[in-house]
Amino acid sequence: MRVGTGVDVHPVEQGRACWVAGLLWEGVPGCAGHSDGDVATHALCDAMLSAAGLGDLGSVFGTSDPRWEGVHGAEFIAEVRRRVEAAGWRLGNASVQVIGNAPRIGKRRDEAQRVLSDAAGGPVSVSGTTTDGLGLTGRGEGIAAVATALLVAAE
Ligand code: MG
Repeated sequence: MRVGTGVDVHPVEQGRACWVAGLLWEGVPGCAGHSDGDVATHALCDAMLSAAGLGDLGSVFGTSDPRWEGVHGAEFIAEVRRRVEAAGWRLGNASVQVIGNAPRIGKRRDEAQRVLSDAAGGPVSVSGTTTDGLGLTGRGEGIAAVATALLVAAE
């Protein structure tokens, strides 16, 4: 078994579509970024890559590569899953926590968990928290996410 950690933060940009945890959240300002700005999927990808010893999101996808412009989180996860499985691992389970004032994860937790679990090939738990008004997430300037992934050797 191997464990990995991933963290991501993106700035909130008014008027941008909000993609978090593989879902589109209507009526919530989204995050700036080269891709869809989904901090939860980016953190999950980094956790899986780190657990497998395969580097990080930037080294795999490149932050300026036009192929990945506007790409959705589930597609990143699918590519990470391919690489992780090719290296002889599969996802045991993962946990992703989103930190911010909005969106409110609890409202669509089951849906988010289904999307991320299907893409990652193992159970992914999704939770949310706030920082009680403190810091960049508390002021609504950004959304953050932290993830832990446990990989097990494929049979
Ligand atoms: Mg990111």
